[in-house]
Amino acid sequence: MKARVQAIIEALSRTYPEAHCELDFTNPLELLVATILSAQCTDKRVNLVTKDLFQKYKTARDYAEAPPEELEEAVRSTGFYRNKAKALRAACTDLVKLHDGKVPDTMEALHSLHGVGRKTANVVLGNAFGKNEGVVVDTHVSRLSQRLGLTEQTDPEKIEKDLMKMIPREDWTLFSHWLIWHGRRRCFARKPDCANCEIQGLCPSAGKV
Ligand code: SF4
Repeated sequence: MKARVQAIIEALSRTYPEAHCELDFTNPLELLVATILSAQCTDKRVNLVTKDLFQKYKTARDYAEAPPEELEEAVRSTGFYRNKAKALRAACTDLVKLHDGKVPDTMEALHSLHGVGRKTANVVLGNAFGKNEGVVVDTHVSRLSQRLGLTEQTDPEKIEKDLMKMIPREDWTLFSHWLIWHGRRRCFARKPDCANCEIQGLCPSAGKV
């Protein structure tokens, strides 16, 4: 298993040398906001929305004190906009109260913010702070980890635990980018392109999905 995992890492790093977070951001607060908005929404749509949003709301206090309907309207096209606006206000209220408006750089502090789950915390830590504290498990990472035989779990936190055991810590952030990129370009949810897949020889599901 270890040799196969290493071979998968090498092949994906060769295939996607430019893999990175596809959400646009220039600071940790912007990434936190974009990640909250990205639930059930494409990164492309989130980037369209945040282009204007980040012009208007620049600090945690701006979000915390925004009139609810105004913030809802601003994020409406990302879907589930009432919940997302509520999560933004809750997380940013905590940032103002507990962290002087700054985004903290530890899992414990990030995860304890209202509206911030482990996945969001991992995205922020890995991409805004360059800290490998966990592996981001989204729908692509879940699907590909299962197809590649890296986990039998379906719960994201359990999948993350399995991945953290077998992937070297320095690769945790990149590994999820590689799987996300591969999921978007080759290993589609329906009809994966196994015939042209760069890791076909390392995948127990090749041609079987
Ligand atoms: S061989 Fe098929 S199922 Fe396996 S990773 Fe490649 S595209 Fe996905």
